[in-house]
Amino acid sequence: MCQHLGREPRKWRKFGRWGSVACRAMRMSRLFLRTLRDAPADADVESQRLLVRGGYIRRVAAGIYTWLPLGSRVLRNVAQIVREEMDDAGAQEVVLPIAQPLELWRQSGRDELYGPLMFRLLDRKDTGFCLAPTAEEVITTTVRNEYSSYRDLPVNLYQIQWKYRDELRPRFGLLRGREFLMKDAYSFDAGHEGLRASYRAMYDAYHRVFERCGLTFRTVHAQSGEMGGDVNHEFMAVAAVGEDDFVWCRACDYAANVEAARRAEPAPAQSGPAESGPAQSGRASTDADLPAMTEVFTPDLPGIDGVAQFLGVAPSEMLKCLAFETDDGRLGLALVPGDREVDEHALGEAVGAGFSFLDDDGFARRPDLPKGYIGPHHPGIDIVLADPGVLARRAWVTGANRVDHHVRDAVVGRDFDPHRVVPLVTVVAGDPCPQCGAGLSVDRGIEVGHVFQLGTKYSKTLGALYTDERGEQHPMLMGCYGIGISRVIAAIVEEHHDDHGICWPAAVAPYGVHLISLPGKGDAAAEVRARSDRLYDELRAAGVEVLYDDRDASPGVKFADADLLGMPVQITLGAKGMARGVAERKVRATGERDDLALDAVVSACR
Ligand code: ATP
Ligand code: MG
Repeated sequence: MCQHLGREPRKWRKFGRWGSVACRAMRMSRLFLRTLRDAPADADVESQRLLVRGGYIRRVAAGIYTWLPLGSRVLRNVAQIVREEMDDAGAQEVVLPIAQPLELWRQSGRDELYGPLMFRLLDRKDTGFCLAPTAEEVITTTVRNEYSSYRDLPVNLYQIQWKYRDELRPRFGLLRGREFLMKDAYSFDAGHEGLRASYRAMYDAYHRVFERCGLTFRTVHAQSGEMGGDVNHEFMAVAAVGEDDFVWCRACDYAANVEAARRAEPAPAQSGPAESGPAQSGRASTDADLPAMTEVFTPDLPGIDGVAQFLGVAPSEMLKCLAFETDDGRLGLALVPGDREVDEHALGEAVGAGFSFLDDDGFARRPDLPKGYIGPHHPGIDIVLADPGVLARRAWVTGANRVDHHVRDAVVGRDFDPHRVVPLVTVVAGDPCPQCGAGLSVDRGIEVGHVFQLGTKYSKTLGALYTDERGEQHPMLMGCYGIGISRVIAAIVEEHHDDHGICWPAAVAPYGVHLISLPGKGDAAAEVRARSDRLYDELRAAGVEVLYDDRDASPGVKFADADLLGMPVQITLGAKGMARGVAERKVRATGERDDLALDAVVSACR
């Protein structure tokens, strides 16, 4: 059954195949496969539904799956793409143990840190082991035991290995499993410059991996979490079912976590206050054409929308003034346009200290600050911070610092002076990209990869030292780099599917071509079957990876399965077509169809 067609490895390389190992072709009559009409009741995302319905995976326990033949081919294809890019980037493949002595994890202090996230077991001598959730401890001691000089470095070792995390909520199928396939790489350098270069090589390789996998993704600067360390980036695949919100630009590579995202600053409506330091009020002369600030009676209207409606202005014409207190006792105001929200992270950065918005107790202590009626011209405020959007409008409607009253025509620089102009608003979809100006998107993302500059966190505690040119010892500088291979597969399906099933990108598809034979019941049945068999043999001989639906099933069943399974190209041969000497080709992703002369099928599929 397996054809060991080891020819043309370079050609297959670009498709991420194990050219000399993989079975290139398969008859569905023999394939270990049952497709399901309905998704299991517990499936909560489309990737899980389709992969189970398509007979790619089967659930064995929460977050633990069996990979059936088609699934295991996808797994192997994605792993192979990762392997090739790691090898090209100079990393060397190793295989580290899954069962690891807990003692090692105690030495690094992570035994406690991982807590119940780690699967633990005892051997017959009562020695503690864990099922590895990641492998910094083992790899660091491995390198420590072999290498000790700057001349040995740099080195980057990777493995593609099952990882185990007893996740609190295993869910979304392969997206958050308890057993999952991860590529983890670890770099060791003598010096920061080397670490930066190793990191860059991995960062670039990751881009190539995810591009080849057909994912729409962006990188974001990330918090380091349990790994510790400094610089790190997450690779986020755009998907509605992702667990993290993030902001990204479709036109360029800009992306950021929602808290860290910024928009291109709106242009000031006129010469505004200085970017830092007290704003100048010398602009009063240029504002002479504007009416003076006047108070209006707005009874029982402490909210933006109510006042805006009452006064016949848009919420964006109102100035929102949020009062806050810093931990060191200063009183502040954050000014943003009325239709925008204040981003607490940005405000915290601008304040440079801990702060909290005034709550009811705070307002009770400051009767001079009437909640819902605060204006930026209040004399008793220590820090007045304004978003650049505040300078984009000349005159504002805002609070009068008096209950039941607002003011019209409050002019920046004339009636109030922010101490500083800093980005404060939460970025929303459509805001201009700070890099290129195109409209930003706010979406959810799946973390498919993560790269860290660990520094000396593990090399210090586990004693991975190198001797420099002068004979002095230093801890090696480490980076670690993960890709969730099984999660990537789910992310690919999330992006590449339609109502009928999966639409695999060619580089990861289990087979490139799905050959469908429709002999029917008529006189030509035997002939169609024979011609289909021949076509299958020709495709195999040409090295095309082909799945052949030679089953005794109805056209409806065969078409539905072909769409569900999602090979990139379907070739259908029936009696009518054969009479005309053609087979029909359908491109799964686009639904485009055309006829191919029977003797041109092989070259078209190659
Ligand atoms: P998450 O924040 O999603 O829990 P993590 O940041 O803990 O992930 P890392 O330690 O960075 O994960 O692991 C490297 C990669 O392994 C992740 O980027 C992700 O693609 C994958 N991964 C992590 N946990 C899981 C899981 N439970 N199931 C599937 N893949 C996972
Ligand atoms: Mg991570």
